[in-house]
Amino acid sequence: MAKIVIDYDNCDGADCGECVDVCPMEVLIIEGDKVVIRNKEECSLCEVCMDVCPQEAVEVEEE
Ligand code: SF4
Repeated sequence: MAKIVIDYDNCDGADCGECVDVCPMEVLIIEGDKVVIRNKEECSLCEVCMDVCPQEAVEVEEE
């Protein structure tokens, strides 16, 4: 199972959304103006969300 942490102090939310665009499993979605984690059990730990985030606000690790 993945542990996904979004640092909301740095995340630009819907103004950015790059992690939402690249996630192949649709784990990250925009809800209102925030990026939220929907079904983290689907996460494949590919880490592309971490790679594209310009704010380094997404952290994914195996737990
Ligand atoms: S690690 Fe991959 S599958 Fe998991 S939330 Fe990030 S982009 Fe989606």
